[in-house]
Amino acid sequence: MGMWASVDAMWDFPAEKRIFGAVLLFSWTVYLWETFLAQRQRRIYKTTTRVPVELEQIMDSDTFEKSRLYQLDKSTFSFWSGLYSVVESTLILLFGGLPYLWRLSERVCGSAGFGPEYEIIQSLVFLLLATFYSALTGLPWSMYNTFVIEEKHGFNHQTLEFFMKDTIKKFVVTQCILLPVSSLLLYIIKIGGDYFFIYAWLFTLVVSLVLVTIYADYIAPLFDKFTPLPEGKLKQEIEVMAKSIDFPLTKVYVVEGSKRSSHSNAYFYGFFKNKRIVLFDTLLEEYSVLNKDNQEEPGLEPRNDGEGDSEEIRTKVKNKKQGCKNEEVLAVLGHELGHWKLGHTIKNIIISQVLSFCLTVLSRRFEFQADAFAKKLGMSKDLYSALIKLNKDNLGFPVSDWLFSTWHYSHPPLLERLQALKDTKQD
Ligand SMILES: [Zn+2]
Repeated sequence: MGMWASVDAMWDFPAEKRIFGAVLLFSWTVYLWETFLAQRQRRIYKTTTRVPVELEQIMDSDTFEKSRLYQLDKSTFSFWSGLYSVVESTLILLFGGLPYLWRLSERVCGSAGFGPEYEIIQSLVFLLLATFYSALTGLPWSMYNTFVIEEKHGFNHQTLEFFMKDTIKKFVVTQCILLPVSSLLLYIIKIGGDYFFIYAWLFTLVVSLVLVTIYADYIAPLFDKFTPLPEGKLKQEIEVMAKSIDFPLTKVYVVEGSKRSSHSNAYFYGFFKNKRIVLFDTLLEEYSVLNKDNQEEPGLEPRNDGEGDSEEIRTKVKNKKQGCKNEEVLAVLGHELGHWKLGHTIKNIIISQVLSFCLTVLSRRFEFQADAFAKKLGMSKDLYSALIKLNKDNLGFPVSDWLFSTWHYSHPPLLERLQALKDTKQD
């Protein structure tokens, strides 16, 4: 790295080397900055060993400690995986990994009878090799994350077989989209003339819009099971709420998130008059398979309702009772629909063309606004308890370094959201 002792010296190099140096400099700067932030946050996980006074009402010390250890493990993991990835990409650049891969794809194509005049085919082979390499080297990391870290903290529900099938499926589906799209893109660049970048940009814009449109209906179901929410009180109440704010709801689905992990979520999707809501089965207390007897742990007794009744059992079994009551699920949806009513989705798409940091800042503002929206619908009490439960179920850590959270968190810290919900002046 001595080469880059002085930034001025960079300008003495030819353009190719300058770009090369700038890429390295940029990735190391981002890496060091984010590692610095992560170390600040890590210090918080290490030193905040007791529930802060202002949180005593909403979090028991057992959950707090579990979440603290979970976040510590996650932070250790991302330290090592981050270090690996920055060193790997530096070595690839320094030792000419990309030119090597290009020569390799030339050779592969050549032996298949495609000479240098088939540049586009060579580029596709190059892309295929590159994505295959990155999938392969990423595999041990994602396996460690799933089967060691998530497993240890009771989140993982994937079997090794499910995981491998899922990974292969993901790779194949990605190639099915990536290869035709990039060959078209390369073709456009080739014939685009002086204004090729405008055509290329328009093309990628159209492709991403198409992908967003078809993703939920055609791609996501390849990976997870979506079933319509059965008729009943919850469905009725969701429909009533959607109607009351003119949300053009056409379907409510439950996705079998429990096949993967016990993390929970809810979201909506769809364009114009065709909106659909998706609830993770892990979010629904009544519906979650995690709350029923399951074959893997035959000794598990069904949990009865009530919050603080079974703390000791809870620490021992990994499939604890989790999820939210119907009113709380509705309050969470009230928040989600707030994002729609306030036009956040469209604003996000527009802003996403700018910088990701701005998006993070804006996203936190939107979270407050969506909370306030749910509050206006009269759901502040249920949203309050839902947020606490979700934080608990997902082992979110409620304390964070201000600089770290400003840079990374798309959602405001729990305590700030709860405070804003309580604050009566907000209305
Ligand atoms: Zn939100």
